[in-house]
Amino acid sequence: MPPVIDKEKCSRCGKCVDICSEDVFYGSEKGEIPSVTYPKECSHFAGCVHICPEGAIRLRIPLPMLLAYKPDKEVVP
Ligand code: SF4
Repeated sequence: MPPVIDKEKCSRCGKCVDICSEDVFYGSEKGEIPSVTYPKECSHFAGCVHICPEGAIRLRIPLPMLLAYKPDKEVVP
């Protein structure tokens, strides 16, 4: 699922626009609430979620990507 921006929380800083490697927010300007211009280009690396200082972005990772997740190391209690 492409990013969803909470317009009430967004401070219009533009950090999510700058970090997105896929240009999902193409054409968005600082000082404005970013537009999700190319939602299908989202690769779900979640940089926008992590860099947002307001916690204004939600991103649902597709189920097939969650199933493929494998931790680097086993945790031994
Ligand atoms: S990083 Fe967060 S607060 Fe900044 S423009 Fe993007 S959604 Fe808005």
